[in-house]
Amino acid sequence: MAKLPGPLEIYPLLPGTNCKECGEANCMAYATKLAEHTVKMRACTPLLLEAKYAKKLAKLEVLVRPPVREVVVGVGDKAASIGGKLVLYRHDLRYTNETSLFVDIPDTLDNEGISKRVKTIEDWTYVYIGQNLRLDGIALRGVSKDPQTFAKAAKHIAGITDWPIALCSLDPKMLSTAANTISDKRPLLYAATMDTWAEVSEIAIRHNLPLVAYAPGNLDNVATLVNTLRAVGVGDIVIDPGTASRAGLGSTIDNFTQLRRASTVNDDESLGYPIMGTPISVWANHKEGEAAYLTQWDEVLTAAAQIVRYSDIVIIHSLDMWTNLPLTFLRNNLYTDPVKPVAVEAGLKEYGNVGPDSPVMYTTNFALTFFTVESDIKQGNVDAYLVVVDTEGMSVQSAVAGRKLTAEKVAETLEEVGIADKVNHRILISPGMAARISGETEEASGWTVKVGTQDSSGIPKYLQEGKWNEE
Ligand code: SF4
Repeated sequence: MAKLPGPLEIYPLLPGTNCKECGEANCMAYATKLAEHTVKMRACTPLLLEAKYAKKLAKLEVLVRPPVREVVVGVGDKAASIGGKLVLYRHDLRYTNETSLFVDIPDTLDNEGISKRVKTIEDWTYVYIGQNLRLDGIALRGVSKDPQTFAKAAKHIAGITDWPIALCSLDPKMLSTAANTISDKRPLLYAATMDTWAEVSEIAIRHNLPLVAYAPGNLDNVATLVNTLRAVGVGDIVIDPGTASRAGLGSTIDNFTQLRRASTVNDDESLGYPIMGTPISVWANHKEGEAAYLTQWDEVLTAAAQIVRYSDIVIIHSLDMWTNLPLTFLRNNLYTDPVKPVAVEAGLKEYGNVGPDSPVMYTTNFALTFFTVESDIKQGNVDAYLVVVDTEGMSVQSAVAGRKLTAEKVAETLEEVGIADKVNHRILISPGMAARISGETEEASGWTVKVGTQDSSGIPKYLQEGKWNEE
C-alpha cells in the first residue's frame, strides 16, 4: 500500500493558529482528520486564502494528494467526483467516491426523446436502508457523426438538467463543437486516442475540461498516452483501458487491476488517475432479432465486475429496474466504510397522528434496525412515538452486550427528546432484545417499561391489541 502521510507530517504545513475556522478544535485535530481523509483541505480557509501560506499550501496539496487523483465532472451539487482512491483494498482504510454510473443517450434522438430519457435517468431510484440509490450522469453518444447534431443535443441536455454530462465521440471535431457549446457545464470529453491526442488535448486545455485517455487492450499504450497528455498540460485525466465482454472480460479486469495496483501499491504517480469502464460496449455484439435481455445480462455482469474491480466511472445503456438494482446495491455495499456501522441520527420520530395517549417505543440508531422498525410501524399504520437511542450504530442485541445501550443511555435520551412533555403517560415499550435492561431502565428513567416484541414485525399487532398500557 502506498504510504499515506500522518498528522505529524501534515501539522507543520498548517497555519498553526488554532483559529477553529475549519470546525475543528485546533490545527492538530484537523491534521489528524486530514490524515484519515475524513475532511477536505478546503476547510482550512486561512491556508487557502492567505498569500503568506501559499508555499505551505502547495506542499500540503502534494503531500495529501491521494494515489488516484480526484476528477470532477459537471458543476454544482450534482457534479460527480470520481477517483480520489487511497487504497487497493477496502479493508486497508475505505473506498472513497462511489463508482459513478453514467447512462447513454444517442444524439440521434429528437429533443422530446432526449428529454424523456433524461427524465427516466434522473428519476431512477430505489430506497435502500434509508438511502436513495441513484444513477449519476448522462453520456451523450455522437451516433449521428455530425458535429452540429451532437452539439445541438448537448445544448438541449445542458438546458434541461444539471446532471453531469460525458461527451462521447472519437471524432475531435464533434468533441470540439459540443465542448464549445457546453464548456461551462464541465463535461467529460471521451476520448483522446493514440491518433487524436493532439487535437483533443487542445480542446481539453482550452476549456479546462477533464479528458478520457482511451487505449484499448494495451497497457503500454495506456501509459504512453497518459504521459503524453500530462506532458502537454492536460490536468484531469480519466483512463479507459478498454472493455471486452464475455471471453475478454478476464483480461479487462486484469488490466484494471494492474492499473490500480500501479498507483496505490507501486506509487506510480503517472498512472494515478480514475479508471473508466464501458459495459455499454457489449451492445456492439448484439445481434439483430436476438432478445435484448441476453445482452442486458452481459452488460450487468460486465458492469458488476468493473465496479468490484476498480472502475471509478462506468457507462451503461440499460435503464431497467432489474439491471440497475443489483449494480447500485453492489456499489452501495462496496463503498460502505468497513469500520463505521451505518447509523441514522438519534432523536424522536413521530408516525401517524400522534397525541398525548400515543405509545412510546425505543430502538437503536443502527440503520438496518431503525429502518426495519420504521417500515413495520408504517406498514401497520399505527400512531406512535419512536425514541432512537445513539448506540454508535450498533443493533439492539449487540449494543446491550457491548454496553452501548444502557439504562442510563435510554433515560438520558428520553430526557433529551422531551417526550415527557408530549404524552400524558409514562410507559416505555422496549425492544424484546433489550428485555434484560428493562428493570434498570425503569429505575434510571422513572418510566414503566413494557417489553415489546422480539421481532419488529409484531409491533402493529402488539400496539393494536392495546396490551402495552394495561395495568
Ligand atoms: S482553520 Fe486551519 S489554521 Fe484554523 S484551526 Fe483549522 S487547521 Fe488550524
